[in-house]
Amino acid sequence: MSERTLPPGATIGILGGGQLGRMTALAAASLGYRCHIYCQSADEPAAQVAAQKTVATFDDAKAIDRFAASVDVATLEFENVPITTLERIRGAAPVYPAPAVQAVAQNRLKEKTFANSLGIATAPFRAVTSADELRAAIAEIGTPSVLKTTRMGYDGKGQVSIKADTDPEVAWAESGSSLATEGGILEGFIDFSCEVSVIVARGTGGETSAFIPVENRHTNHILDETIAPANISAETANTANDIAIRLTEGLDVVGLLAIEMFVTSNGNVLVNEVAPRPHNSGHWTMDACRTSQFEQLVRAISGLPLGDPSRRCDAVMKNLIGNDVEDWPKHLADPAAKLHLYGKSETRPGRKMGHINFLGKPTNS
Ligand code: AMP
Repeated sequence: MSERTLPPGATIGILGGGQLGRMTALAAASLGYRCHIYCQSADEPAAQVAAQKTVATFDDAKAIDRFAASVDVATLEFENVPITTLERIRGAAPVYPAPAVQAVAQNRLKEKTFANSLGIATAPFRAVTSADELRAAIAEIGTPSVLKTTRMGYDGKGQVSIKADTDPEVAWAESGSSLATEGGILEGFIDFSCEVSVIVARGTGGETSAFIPVENRHTNHILDETIAPANISAETANTANDIAIRLTEGLDVVGLLAIEMFVTSNGNVLVNEVAPRPHNSGHWTMDACRTSQFEQLVRAISGLPLGDPSRRCDAVMKNLIGNDVEDWPKHLADPAAKLHLYGKSETRPGRKMGHINFLGKPTNS
């Protein structure tokens, strides 16, 4: 153990109170740590299971300073915490992954430019800040293409698909106010054969450990199922793994980096986006791997040795979205299904309420 190792009983601060924070706090508790959750309302999923909570907004400097003084290390469970808030916390405690990583991951342009700077392919893209620039970008990139917000986009929010007959003026107007203020990005549409992701952990000493590539299937832009392992060739899996490790090291991440990629029919692997936090496509690891993504995050940021990420069995993770959660009794009756519920009091369409890990036969890798 190095001098950076947090002893049991130390406090991990988590910015954000959602299910990712909840599952991280549960993993932290099993390693003897306490968690302090910084969230926007008292009954959020993570706050329900943690030793301490602060209910405040991310621009409340006094609350942030009190939080920072009470934790030994801080991490995030969603990307859009303001960088100034993270820098403020960093004055009192380490923040992992560092604010500089968050700055890249919060911005699609920076993220794709960074990947390209390492020689890693992405969809072709252009920055656009007006309807005229959109027209010029469409002429260069071609159609079909996708117009996205540069920042704050998730689960397909803020995306407009551009076809051959799309009028750039109309598409720009349709795409909403955040494009006008924050700018946008036009991406070539990738006719992918599947979407995969790799989650990499990197410790305070720079050591890395990756979970195997998994396949992600979306419905209405929201992750529906993750299939582990992905049904891709060993060569493509190696390429995806290599890209993920290079990005994690290139960004100097301490913690977790989830890398979402498109695989084309000729086996090319293109990075779509990265998230410096636990990822929905890693929930299968809770029941099917020797170490879960959540435990791996806690180990990485606490200076502990990384765990063994290998899988005990194949798995399919199914999200319970909105009213799907009402089927919980049925899933509990299935011996191959492991049910995880997030404790959300209100069910809304499109809201992630829980997930089930369907476990396959034991495997050796
Ligand atoms: P994103 O918000 O970038 O993660 O996009 C959400 C989903 O939209 C992705 O998981 C893909 O299914 C789809 N998508 C995003 N960008 C592209 C693209 N350039 N080409 C094809 N599909 C895309």
